[in-house]
Amino acid sequence: MANLLEGRLIAEEIKEGLRRQIQGLAVKPVLASLLAGNNAGAETYVRSQKKTAESIGIEYKLHKLDADIKEDDLIELIKRLNSDKSVNGIIVQMPLPNGIDYRKISRCIIPQKDVEGMHPDNLGKLLFGKATILPCTPAAVMELLRVTGLDLYGKEVVVVGHSEIVGKPLSLLLLEKFATVTVAHIGTSQAGKLQDHIRRAEVLIVAVGKAGLIRGEWIKDGAIVIDVGINRVGDKIVGDVEFEAAERRAAYITPVPGGVGPLTVTMLMRNLIEAVRLQL
Ligand code: NDP
Repeated sequence: MANLLEGRLIAEEIKEGLRRQIQGLAVKPVLASLLAGNNAGAETYVRSQKKTAESIGIEYKLHKLDADIKEDDLIELIKRLNSDKSVNGIIVQMPLPNGIDYRKISRCIIPQKDVEGMHPDNLGKLLFGKATILPCTPAAVMELLRVTGLDLYGKEVVVVGHSEIVGKPLSLLLLEKFATVTVAHIGTSQAGKLQDHIRRAEVLIVAVGKAGLIRGEWIKDGAIVIDVGINRVGDKIVGDVEFEAAERRAAYITPVPGGVGPLTVTMLMRNLIEAVRLQL
């Protein structure tokens, strides 16, 4: 039976360290959060961010925006926050209203306040192994792997999902550790090869958003399984991996919820503290 990798508990330890770092700062860090419209998922995420921020001494300033805000107006607000010295970090909540280009918006936040690590400058630094502000979910996955004590050097690691916020940046972080990284995606599935790759994975990380995509019987005995997926099935939240069957084969596995999610929010706060340092 696998050991549970409980992100919630690991997050508590990291938050304790962040709280101490914040006490040592000359200023109380401020995170500006921009939320357009009334998306239930985004509102839940905002509540969790606010609670985490305030629990460690960060001021969370929520800007509620109209669902029909124009791209230019959003950019104008971001520019104001960029030059506001009392604001240390800016996060724009997803999903954005129709007609607003996420890539354009993420380029508008100056790199020193880009707490999600998605500005091209920060992503570029990631490529060179020099990033100090890391995309939050990939950073959370790396924390979970650190806790297992596994040396990734030469290990067969399979990442399923190649999105810009999870799979692609995560593959770079894993390469930094000299893992042998395979990134599987929709093409892999459609070619009927997903199962073959997963059976070889000593470390499996899944970020797709399809409940039950990964069958428990495919998991290699003793593997580490990190399930990033969040899916609502009836009144339950589940990941992308068939948990019960996978748990019987894996050495470590993340629960959903309570695995990657709480650590992702914590990584956002860690980035904010790094942003404060860059600004000082
Ligand atoms: P995206 O939809 O951006 O990416 C999903 C990826 O999965 C894409 O690369 C897609 O390929 C690929 N994919 C789709 N279907 C298949 C398939 N059948 N086989 C293999 N690959 C497939 O999602 P995100 O990366 O934003 O998020 C993924 C999941 O992780 C979601 O459930 C999301 O809610 C969750 N999430 C959780 C976070 C947390 O903190 N716990 C944070 C961020 C996300 P293609 O695009 O080519 O179709």
